[in-house]
Amino acid sequence: MKVLKFGGTSVGSAARMKEVASLVCDGSSKVVVLSAMSGTTNSLVEIANYLYKKNNDGANEVISGLIQKYYEEIELLYAKGETKAKAKELVNSHFDYIKSFTIDMFTAHEEKAILAQGELLSTAMFHYYLAEQGEKSALLPALDFMRIDKNQEPDSAYIKENIQKELEKAGEAEIYITQGFISRNAFGEIDNLQRGGSDYTASLVGAALNATEIQIWTDIDGMHNNDPRFVEGTYSITNLSFDEAAELAYFGAKILHPTCVLPAKVNNIPVRLLNTMEPEAPGTLISSQQQKGRITAIAAKDNITVIKIKSGRMLLAYGFLRKVFEIFESYKTPIDMISTSEVGVSITIDDDKHVHEIVDDLKKFGTVDVCTDQVIVCIVGDLVSDTKGHANKIFEALKEIPIRMISYGGSNFNVSVVIESQFKKEALNVLNNNLF
Ligand code: ASP
Ligand code: MG
Repeated sequence: MKVLKFGGTSVGSAARMKEVASLVCDGSSKVVVLSAMSGTTNSLVEIANYLYKKNNDGANEVISGLIQKYYEEIELLYAKGETKAKAKELVNSHFDYIKSFTIDMFTAHEEKAILAQGELLSTAMFHYYLAEQGEKSALLPALDFMRIDKNQEPDSAYIKENIQKELEKAGEAEIYITQGFISRNAFGEIDNLQRGGSDYTASLVGAALNATEIQIWTDIDGMHNNDPRFVEGTYSITNLSFDEAAELAYFGAKILHPTCVLPAKVNNIPVRLLNTMEPEAPGTLISSQQQKGRITAIAAKDNITVIKIKSGRMLLAYGFLRKVFEIFESYKTPIDMISTSEVGVSITIDDDKHVHEIVDDLKKFGTVDVCTDQVIVCIVGDLVSDTKGHANKIFEALKEIPIRMISYGGSNFNVSVVIESQFKKEALNVLNNNLF
């Protein structure tokens, strides 16, 4: 069985939903994971923000706008008056539920319940459409099998057992539709896999069902070898290894959520990135196959802050780095890149919410410098095996650009450098010319 995931834009209107239907109805049995219609989750976040501030008028205005939008799409999506009426009733019941939160106390639990409504709506609407078309589809309620544990990690054993039960309950169908993004937590409350988490759902479902393939459908033709917004003549990469994909997904390639790679890799299930606008195109296939000695892609991540700690106490000391890392940990701030010398360490972060507190705490170890507006440029490929000369080619290309940090050998598949953001475009282009 294959698992196919379609993002918000792919189900963003009646017309796009119809295209998805024609793509998935090919006679073979499959699971289809859907995001909310594009814009919906953002609007639901907006509603929640109004409700936190007790601004019911603000919330109601966004709600009315959404209902209006759904009504319009319903008119275009269904042929029969009967289905239209049923779909409008569905929309009303979900928004009545959201409106019920204007009365009572509003906390993070209610917010999560609100955020879940987008995927519940898109999947039910798609199910009604397939039914009207005479297709055999069934809904698999994600809230009945998708679960995260106390550490917000997916509970794989629970998911595996319960999705199987839901499949049996649903009986025989061609298209099993389920909601991306939403889950329950360890206490049985409605929760989610974080923004953009539908890719993660697809991967977890694929792993739970031991799928033959996981397909992530978007509106781009796969993962590109460089950033097309800054470099001309980029191309879609036909084959990527799981390791390369994991590096690239983190470094800003928006097409695939970074969390999606791990469950697929662990279960060795190929992931294919495909384009709904160009369904025949090969896209990008991510698998365990690693092409030897190849430089595969270049990517960049913006808004990086570099923190440098210089300390005489680091010299010959043990436990120094642990103390430094614990400070970041205490502010729940992930460290992305590090580079060390005998007397200092440089660290990059992309979440600078607590940078002031972190710097204050670090000052007890030595002098601390902070540089904002930095960029990590990463070169991904089979770079640190027996092949020679990659580093030379990379730094030859970058010879005119001031480099702040370098990381080489952290994994076999990534060389990263930190530069100032004003040099980003130049760096991506000179690397492109030298490496491809
Ligand atoms: N609808 C959710 C979001 O907008 C999940 C997703 O689309 O992946 O973040
Ligand atoms: Mg996405």
